Amino acid sequence: MRSWEELENACMNCYKCPLAQTRTNVVIGDGNRKSKIMFIGEGPGQQEDLQGKPFVGPAGQLLDKMLSSIGLDRSKVYIANIVKCRPPYNRDPEKTEQEACINFLRYQFLLIRPKILVCLGRIAAQAIISPDFRITKSRGIWYNRKNCDIIATYHPSALLRDESKMHPAHIDFQSIQQKYNELEQTNEQ
Ligand code: SF4
Repeated sequence: MRSWEELENACMNCYKCPLAQTRTNVVIGDGNRKSKIMFIGEGPGQQEDLQGKPFVGPAGQLLDKMLSSIGLDRSKVYIANIVKCRPPYNRDPEKTEQEACINFLRYQFLLIRPKILVCLGRIAAQAIISPDFRITKSRGIWYNRKNCDIIATYHPSALLRDESKMHPAHIDFQSIQQKYNELEQTNEQ
């Protein structure tokens, strides 16, 4: 797949895993396709499935607020998920479903070529950083793979469930802001 058109067609017509049977829409991604920073969640929820866009429910509204707190918004970032179709009842996507879908994310990565990847939550961090990644222990740490800086922080849904995670999440977002600003400054030189 070499173009967004090809990727979109492939996703829209994908029946590679059982999530195809229960989806309303395939949720491919949203935001700036030329962005240097990409946020990755686990999968669409109910509102995302209905609207065909990632992070548009309550967790998405919180993500927008957190982006705004560090001077970013959807015109400056790209947002996608590990799986493109909604797992029923918002359960975690199964490993087999993630494996069936992950190549679409890889193509998105190749089309966007971000310099910073932010994994939102355990599922994304385990798929992208390490299968045994523990979000409470290892969030906020920067990794570098193939010239891309990668960090994991809490998924906004987890922040809605447990307010005590908000403070560490803000610290992570400040670190993301710093990394993003450094990147912008390097680009300006
Ligand atoms: S989740 Fe991914 S692999 Fe499964 S049907 Fe949807 S697009 Fe295809």
